[in-house]
Amino acid sequence: MSFEADADKKWDKDDIHLLAYTTQPPVDLDTTLADFPDGWTECIVSAPLKTIILDTPGYPGQIKRPKIPAHCISESPGKGLGMFATRKVTAGELILAERALMIAPAALQVPVPADIFDNYPTEQAKQAILFEQEKALEVAYKRMPEEHQTAFMALYNSHTQDGSGPIVGVIRTNGYMLNGPMQDEWRPGPKGAYVGVFNELSRLNHSCRPNTYRTFDMVSFAMEIYAVRDIEESEEITTYYTHLLLPTTTRQQNLEPYGVRCDCASCANPRVSDDRRMEIAKKCKRDILADRVSRWSTNPRLSDDFALREGERLLKLVEDEGLETEICYSELLMHLAMVHAALGNTEETGQYATRWMATRIAKGRPLEKQFEDVMTLKQILDTFTDCRGRLHQDSGEINGMAGKLREMKLEGLNL
Ligand SMILES: [Zn+2]
Repeated sequence: MSFEADADKKWDKDDIHLLAYTTQPPVDLDTTLADFPDGWTECIVSAPLKTIILDTPGYPGQIKRPKIPAHCISESPGKGLGMFATRKVTAGELILAERALMIAPAALQVPVPADIFDNYPTEQAKQAILFEQEKALEVAYKRMPEEHQTAFMALYNSHTQDGSGPIVGVIRTNGYMLNGPMQDEWRPGPKGAYVGVFNELSRLNHSCRPNTYRTFDMVSFAMEIYAVRDIEESEEITTYYTHLLLPTTTRQQNLEPYGVRCDCASCANPRVSDDRRMEIAKKCKRDILADRVSRWSTNPRLSDDFALREGERLLKLVEDEGLETEICYSELLMHLAMVHAALGNTEETGQYATRWMATRIAKGRPLEKQFEDVMTLKQILDTFTDCRGRLHQDSGEINGMAGKLREMKLEGLNL
């Protein structure tokens, strides 16, 4: 690993074996958090990723803030601390954006012999690796301002008994996998992934029915959380630490390393919830929904139940399971907007399209991309508008419609 004082130094793209300690965004050594309230992150990142960060257009942008503050940290019964809404929050609204205290590789490579597992008992080799990881992370930890160090060590640690040092333990308990470009592209999957530990966002508790979506914004170098459904004042704000469409027992196993035993309404009733989640995973896929709309739009003999009622039923299932963070939710909203457009129901089309837009905003879609989304959505809906009415009058439309749908499947639906 290389230490560098120059946070602006860029690296050659070939330096893939080099890990850099770096403060991002770059700040002067004597900067205090009072001078720079957006804060900064101590990072251990690969040399090429550091260059990607510095080359991001607009980097480093200011972190976004909700118009009116919307959260506080306080006691959550049985779960230690948690985050709560201090006012009503509407679906799609930004609740909090925060820079991490520390960002590090999810699988930190340390200088141990490559054949360590051949020459030592497994447990001993694991302990040696954990020891080296702690040493490497300690360098980044010591570079943090004192307030950040205190906040970091105040976080919950569920790895106090397995040989993890205190820093490794806090990261393993609280680190969120960062999405998007914060990934070594030559190492796909968890091996090239990074985790971030946050002062406030790491206080979010898990729910299998989470009410926020989180996304890492490279420009402001901050994690953002958005409401995926309306949140009432004083309701707990929650996130997810595991895939949500897995069966309850698998989710519970995945949550064990975080010291979490989820007691959400779905975990409390696995017999009902598991069946529903399995059906959602199977039926709410883009291709399957697109095919349903396509067959229904071009076949006047298929009743409206085929697309409309089925779409409404699945949407209710997703909402009943609290799965608005899942991609299937936005797929279903888009599906229903198209179906209503085909039926000529302008009002319902607008309602579903607006809700679909809110899901895009909640996933941190940049403003210019949102504009493109609206234009594409308009095109798609225009194609469908009233097609059911027209098809009934003139079956000659069917062929034209089928052709257009084939194009749409390739382009528009891949939003
Ligand atoms: Zn649960």
